[in-house]
Amino acid sequence: CGIVGYIGDNNASEIILDGLEKLEYRGYDSAGIAVNYNQELIIRKKEGRLKVLDEDLKSNPIAGNIAIGHTRWATHGAPSDENSHPHFNLDKSIAVVHNGIIENYMDIKKELTQLGYNFFSETDTEVIPHLLDFYSKQSDDFFSAIQKTLKKVKGAYALGILNTKNPDTIFCARKDSPLVIGKGTNENFIASDVPALLKYTKEVYFLENEEIGVITKDSIEIFDLDKNVINRDLHTIEWSM
Ligand code: GLU
Repeated sequence: CGIVGYIGDNNASEIILDGLEKLEYRGYDSAGIAVNYNQELIIRKKEGRLKVLDEDLKSNPIAGNIAIGHTRWATHGAPSDENSHPHFNLDKSIAVVHNGIIENYMDIKKELTQLGYNFFSETDTEVIPHLLDFYSKQSDDFFSAIQKTLKKVKGAYALGILNTKNPDTIFCARKDSPLVIGKGTNENFIASDVPALLKYTKEVYFLENEEIGVITKDSIEIFDLDKNVINRDLHTIEWSM
């Protein structure tokens, strides 16, 4: 339902929590975060209000300057800690937050299970980290794993992706579910909706269908699914919340 991502010099989990709060009006049943810290993904996710996650983070804070977060509105799999996002691959080197529905997830889940992949949740989303894992074992180029994954899935998605092999990068993509990239100074953001970002920046790129964003703290690149570069105009949001 809600997605926020941050990469920069500040504490990422605090900015993610703040951004997710701005998206609370959309409704949700659980919330979670993945922080890339020292080449490791630290994942916390909880059924219930953001307050539950917030208290968990306050009593046990996570350092780290790159993170993705999510508030979930369950479509496949009941609200629970396990079904909350981020979802991850077996060795927790890849974490994914997703808005939307992967329509062919049953078929993909069957194929992956036959290949030996174990699933930790009942969600449609979880096929994505496992597909990324599968394709990233075929080549070292994580971007190409994303391309192959997006060509395999059918349905609607806005995605935020972290991967320990690219510790300074947030990947994102969308189809039929909105995603914006916020441009800061020595920091950049992603969000499913503009209100999450307004406190930090009013300069955004609107990602369009079947586009992939590759974001570091000082660069934003947008590609189509065939890796052609997209030159998107920077948009200045004129209103404030
Ligand atoms: N279909 C996914 C799930 O049920 C994502 C739902 C959402 O957009 O929050 O976990």
